[in-house]
Order: sequence, then structure tokens, then C-alpha cells
Amino acid sequence: MTVLYWFRQDRRLADNPALCQAAGLGQRLLPVTMRLEPEQTVWGFERHGPHRLGFEAQALSGLAQALESLGSALYQPKTPGAAGLIELARDVGATHVVCEALSAPEEQAQIQALKGAGLSVLAIEQSALIGHDRLPFAPQDTPDVFSEFRRQIERTPIKPRTPLAAPATLPKPPATINAASRWCANVSPRALDQRSAFAWQTEPWQGDEQSAQAHLARYFEGHWPQHYKQTRNRLSGTHDSTKFSPWLAVGALSAAQIWSALKAHEAKFGANDSTYWIGFELLWRDHFRLIMQRYGAQLFRTQGITVSHSRKHQPSTQGFERWRLGQTGHRLIDAGMRELASTGYLSNRMRQIVASYLIHEMRGHWLAGAAWFEHCLIDFDVHSNQGNWAYIAGVGTDPRAGRQFNPDKQAREHDPDERYRNLWSQP
Ligand SMILES: Cc1cc2nc3c(=O)[nH]c(=O)nc-3n(C[C@H](O)[C@H](O)[C@H](O)COP(=O)(O)OP(=O)(O)OC[C@H]3O[C@@H](n4cnc5c(N)ncnc54)[C@H](O)[C@@H]3O)c2cc1C
Repeated sequence: MTVLYWFRQDRRLADNPALCQAAGLGQRLLPVTMRLEPEQTVWGFERHGPHRLGFEAQALSGLAQALESLGSALYQPKTPGAAGLIELARDVGATHVVCEALSAPEEQAQIQALKGAGLSVLAIEQSALIGHDRLPFAPQDTPDVFSEFRRQIERTPIKPRTPLAAPATLPKPPATINAASRWCANVSPRALDQRSAFAWQTEPWQGDEQSAQAHLARYFEGHWPQHYKQTRNRLSGTHDSTKFSPWLAVGALSAAQIWSALKAHEAKFGANDSTYWIGFELLWRDHFRLIMQRYGAQLFRTQGITVSHSRKHQPSTQGFERWRLGQTGHRLIDAGMRELASTGYLSNRMRQIVASYLIHEMRGHWLAGAAWFEHCLIDFDVHSNQGNWAYIAGVGTDPRAGRQFNPDKQAREHDPDERYRNLWSQP
């Protein structure tokens, strides 16, 4: 039997239970990645921006090399989307597809398309910290409010799966596969902005699994985790927060691997509020994944998961371009938007401030803001992005019905010496 292993947000060999399962299924295993469809958003820009594509290409390049070292290779169909996978499966006579399960609607529709073409699909949930089988409730009963979710999760000690080692061998790809289908990079990386807090164009910050593992080890060998809670809200700085998100987003790193390294750090250097808080933030990531599973397409509507379509949700599109291009006239907001566009990364605090500004000060459309983040972010993750935007807009899971950040107060508190504003005063 020939099995197609479809890498989605799990572009790694280690701690990839779905890949291991696929390897045990057939005599032939064809590792593939889907080709992206070039797409224009309704807001007038391309859906996938250069930073995101560049970082993803690094992840894929690392994956291709790792597969080659096992005598395999990475393939990519010529046709974009699920149609390409279906064609490739037909070409090599594969009847089975194995992949990680993702709960967002588009990702679910891709699975349906494969099944509709007669393929047998095994989608294995493996991207959250806490596997569905270890939750104290059914995924569809996930509490909407994060604090309640966390309370229920923390009633018993959190025990994610023990990370798996990379497979030592993999079944060979079918001999009939056309060599022209081998994955090759076709993006020209965006030049490095020296001000970047995540310089993904340089050696230690690249998107591949090896760089992710090196960063994980370096971060937890250092003193940074011991102070994370005090530094995480700073506006820029390389180690003020963990910087795991880009590697999590491309799947070069798993949440279970982070948890395991965190516990080893605590055993060696001691546990404190800060080390606890790293795990706490990873629970937010899990919560947004489960909320996406529960509400699906509702999270992509103007009114989000709320029932009513109140006046508050009648956004204006005026001003969006000024916000997007960092030309609002508010120095902190413009600084943040420049950093985002120039580097593909933005601290959590700045994400909250600029999102709130678009929604609550400019009365802009939160879906447009979410789409611009999708274009820019090297750590774009549909669950976290849509969930956070909806939360700030008051159409998601915030029990206080939305978060408004006073930008002047934020500037005083988080940028008292104007260092950040001065750093990003120019595009
Ligand atoms: C409007 C908005 C959009 C966002 N879009 C994304 C996105 O597309 N992808 C993404 O990964 N994160 C997103 N976030 C969450 C958060 O800003 C980033 O995860 C974080 O800044 C990444 O940097 P870090 O890895 O150093 O985070 P750390 O502070 O070190 O946190 C550790 C990990 O916890 C998780 N985490 C932390 N905060 C959040 C949060 N609020 N929601 C979900 N997970 C969290 C991430 O996996 C992160 O890597 C968004 C936040 C906002 C306010």
C-alpha cells in the first residue's frame, strides 16, 4: 500500500505521532506539502505575505533535507490546494492520506475534499499541548471563558504526551513518483531589517526544525524563563518572551516539546511564577484551538460568536489603509505597524494595542485587521489569530465583551523613554 503523508502545521520529524503512524501503515510513504493558492483578500492585498512565505520556505527546506537524510524526500504537487494532493495520489496509486488534524473550517474543508475524491484520510490531533484524550471535558464542551477552561484543566497536573524521537527510518517513496514533483523553494526572502526582534533571515532564527530545537535548548539553558513574567509585556527585545510562536506555527516545534523542556528547566533551575506563566500562555493557545473547533466558521463572521449584530459591529473601512501602512499619526501605533510589516513579528502587547486601535479608536473592521496579520505574521496561526482578534473586538470569548487599550496610556507605561517609538519612527 502507498500512503501519502501530508505535512500541514507539523513540519518536523521529531514528536510527530501522525508521521510515525503513517510510516507503519504502508510499504511506500510519500511525504508531501500542499501548494498554496495565490490569493487576493477582499481587503485589497495578497493573503500570504513575503515574511510568512519566507519563514515557511525555511521550514520546508529543513524538512526536505531531514527527509533526504532518511533516504526519502519532500514532494509538492503542481496544482495548488487539495486538488493537487488528489492528483498526486492518483499518479502514484495512493489510497490513503495521513495528516495532523486541524479544526479551522478551511482546513476541515480540505479533508472533506480528499475524502470526496475517494481517499481514505486519517487525521490525527497532535498540535495542542493537551491532547483531546487528556481533556477533562469533550472538546465541544470547552468553556468559552479562558479562566474557567484553565481552572478545569489545572484541577489535575497537566500531562502532555512525552515527545517522540524522530523516526530512524521511513518507507521509501513510490518508485513511480516523478522527480519533477520534488519540493523546491520558489520564494525570494525579504531582506533583513536590523531592528527585528526575530531576525528569521539569519542563522539561529530560521524556520527549520534544527533551528527550533537549538532555540528551545538555548532559551531554557538561559536565565530568561526565570524572569519571563516580568519581561513578556515589553514591546521589543529578543528574549523578553520565548519567541516560540513562529516555530510552533510552521510546526518545526511542538507544544509537547516545549512543555518537556520547561519541566526540565524547572527541575534544574527551580520553578517560579515566570516559569508557570510560560505554560499558562501555552494554555491560551490550546484554548483558541478548542474554541475554533467549537465555533468554526462563526469566528469568521463580523459578529463572531455573538448572537446579536449590534451597532458596535458595523465597522467602517475608512482609515484601514492608514492603519495598515503605519500612517495613522499616532506614533506608537505607526511604530507597531511598521515593525509588523518590516519584520513579520510583533510582541503580544503591541498586537493588542494596534488591534484595539483599529477596532475601538478607528472603528475599523476586525476581520480586515485579522487578514493583515495573516498576511504579515511569520507566526500566523489561524486559531490564535482569529481568536485573539475576536476577543479584542468583543465578538469572541472575552467575558468583558472586548478589550480597549488606551494608546497614550500604553505608550506611557510600556514606552516611557520613547525608545520603541524612536526605533520605528521610520519605515
Ligand atoms: C491580535 C492578536 C493576534 C495574534 N495572532 C497570533 C497568531 O497568528 N499566531 C500566534 O501564534 N499568536 C498570535 N497571537 C498571540 C501572541 O501575541 C503570540 O503568540 C506571541 O506574541 C508570540 O510570541 P512568543 O512566542 O514570544 O510568546 P510568549 O509570550 O513567549 O508565549 C509563549 C507561547 O504561548 C502562546 N501564546 C502566548 N500568548 C498567546 C495568546 N494571546 N494567544 C494564543 N497563544 C498565545 C504562543 O504559542 C507563544 O509562543 C496574537 C495576539 C493578538 C493580540
